[in-house]
Amino acid sequence: MKISRRSFLKWCTTSAVALGLSKMELGKLEEVVMAAETTPPVIWLQGSGCSGCSISLLNSIQETTIDDLLINKISMKYHHNIMTASGDLAISALDQTVSQYNGKFILVIEGAVPTADNGIHCVLTERHGQPWTMLDAVKELAPKASYVIAAGTCASFGGVPMGGGNPTGIQRLDRNILYNMTKQRIINLPGCPIHPYTLVRTIIKVLLYGMPRLDEQGRPREFYDTEIHDICPYKEYDEVRQLGLLGCYEELGCKGPDTYNNCPHRKWNNKNNWCIAAGHMCIGCADSSFGKETIYKFGGGSYSSDEHDDDDERDDNEYEYRSHDDDDDERDDEYRTYYRYRYDD
Ligand code: SF4
Ligand code: SF4
Repeated sequence: MKISRRSFLKWCTTSAVALGLSKMELGKLEEVVMAAETTPPVIWLQGSGCSGCSISLLNSIQETTIDDLLINKISMKYHHNIMTASGDLAISALDQTVSQYNGKFILVIEGAVPTADNGIHCVLTERHGQPWTMLDAVKELAPKASYVIAAGTCASFGGVPMGGGNPTGIQRLDRNILYNMTKQRIINLPGCPIHPYTLVRTIIKVLLYGMPRLDEQGRPREFYDTEIHDICPYKEYDEVRQLGLLGCYEELGCKGPDTYNNCPHRKWNNKNNWCIAAGHMCIGCADSSFGKETIYKFGGGSYSSDEHDDDDERDDNEYEYRSHDDDDDERDDEYRTYYRYRYDD
């Protein structure tokens, strides 16, 4: 699954406009790629999630298709759904990549990481005759990666798998599981699913410039610096009280005022449409609260994981589950201080 550097550059040149690459950036990319021994090796792990982020990329035909990107443009060494190898063959390909490109590969994490019962609720495969959990995998591979990208809301913030009492003990990668263990800050690309453009452009940007500027939630400012509400074309419209009618959905609980993403600009399904223009409010799929809070302000029977949590003994158990809301100020301060010190961000 490896291609020549020449093909990678050719693809970047033909996709330059769609990817927003300037002539200068293209020139720099050529220097970076030609100086490297290979196209960037990528290991992609899938934990607790629905594989929607992979599907979102597979559905993309603008900028590039995912098979074109992952098979022909970068050197995808491991991806459960896309690779043809399986069993021992797949694991030995992964081991070989890690040892050959130690410190140089990009690790993409899709899905959340359960920690309860030593991570046994999410087993990736058998390795050396033992169950290899997602928890084992991220702890082993992330410290050896040049960049760690958390693709989607589940990987970034826990998402839906972390809601409803969080029985598998999912925790945040950056603030808990991999805290202090990676070479660089973890790049969080939330969205349920991730937007293909955001992932493709992030990979190209790290090749060009290294670490992007991240906000306090670990999100690249380039994609997540604006609330949906601020750039929503329906801001000037009358409020409507029924989904399907075009207008502002604030009365119904639209999460646009709390959610940072670029949907109104980038749109979805190959730039065809996006949630609010399609007649549905923003449900905050890219926000850290997604999966943990009530979405709709109507219907009467809406489920709230907050209410459920009140009855759940899990909060006091040995897994020390801490949702983003439970993070105490001390830990947040420690986190901010750590990264300000290391990366001057
Ligand atoms: S529909 Fe949502 S995002 Fe758009 S203006 Fe209304 S509240 Fe803001
Ligand atoms: S508009 Fe809101 S719910 Fe829709 S994709 Fe964007 S962030 Fe997610």
